[in-house]
Amino acid sequence: MTASGGPLRVAILGSTGSIGQSALAVAEAHPERVVITGLAAGRNVSRAIAQVAQWRPRAVSMGTAEAIATVRDALDPASRSGVRVWRHGGAGLIEVATQPDVDIVLCASSGTAALEAVLAAIACGKTIALANKEVLVMAGELVMAAAARNGVAVLPVDSEHNAVHQCLHGRSSDEITRIILTASGGPFRLREAASLDDVTPDDALSHPTWKMGRKITIDSATLMNKGLEVIEARWLFDVEADRIHVVVHPQSVVHSLVELRDGSVMAQLGVTDMRLPIQYAFSYPDRWAAALPSLSLTACRALEFFEPDHGRFPCLPLAFAALRAGSSHCVVLNGANEVAVAAFLDRHIRFPHIARLIEEALDAHAAGAATRPRDLADIRAIDAWAQAFARERVTVAR
Ligand code: MG
Repeated sequence: MTASGGPLRVAILGSTGSIGQSALAVAEAHPERVVITGLAAGRNVSRAIAQVAQWRPRAVSMGTAEAIATVRDALDPASRSGVRVWRHGGAGLIEVATQPDVDIVLCASSGTAALEAVLAAIACGKTIALANKEVLVMAGELVMAAAARNGVAVLPVDSEHNAVHQCLHGRSSDEITRIILTASGGPFRLREAASLDDVTPDDALSHPTWKMGRKITIDSATLMNKGLEVIEARWLFDVEADRIHVVVHPQSVVHSLVELRDGSVMAQLGVTDMRLPIQYAFSYPDRWAAALPSLSLTACRALEFFEPDHGRFPCLPLAFAALRAGSSHCVVLNGANEVAVAAFLDRHIRFPHIARLIEEALDAHAAGAATRPRDLADIRAIDAWAQAFARERVTVAR
């Protein structure tokens, strides 16, 4: 329930992806508490058609004009009748996120397309449930400042930050000694450094504990996913790089930990199911009953924790270095990584080249006049430079 007493009105950006589908499963489990008022998706037309027919949102957007026309034409008049807004592209994301009947925007779209929509939603006072990494990696300072200005909560849906949010329960940053993010270690945790040269996209796509999209699964294999999460944690919880730590925890049962200044360490544990953090964001500050299996500690048996191996997984120290160097470096890290991961998936570069390419982009950026981005236009320009630089290097490497 919301402050007004009615059900929570949710807009989902990225409704056909894995987080979007889990969010709709949460809504399905709580029909009296959640209504879906907006759905935005990219290219998955068939899934979008099924979702609009089931949820009958007021606003719908797809990636392209073609896709939205296909969705609209495929629906029968009854399913279509409640939809008042049909849009596409970046403007469509903004429309869906800022409709007057939206309480909370779940940002689960991939990539950087939703940046403008998140800022627009914050300006309209919408609560943000954030599952997308790029928003804070690229524009953390900007987004959190806008949220503070508008008195808007940014609730993390990523399992690690969601765990930290639960452990902190509103405590201020100066009570935190350390934030400890757990990492599964990915599919190559035990592989020799030399053999990483030969791993294929298929090897990298088989993640041991979480089922996710392709980009994030490769990021988990390189540990860049954890690096991006370190940058997100910096902005979400207002702690600098020195107070953020990463441990490899292959069982993914402890979702993350917080050490408070009196030495107490708080941890959040749970089954590996994204419905839990999504529901937390929807119900916060309340808790709703969940239709999830409960965690069996005895079935977990051993819970192990290891130092991450920076030598084999250089993307993690690169992320820490970018965070220490400043916001623009984080934008470069993210932009170069996006190109490098795509090139690896297309078999244009080898696995270890992902980190090398990012390092080259960071070096080139540092050698130039690196300034602090003031607005989204600056951020977009730096991102475009980093992607162009990385694409150029991919061509050379081929
Ligand atoms: Mg995560």
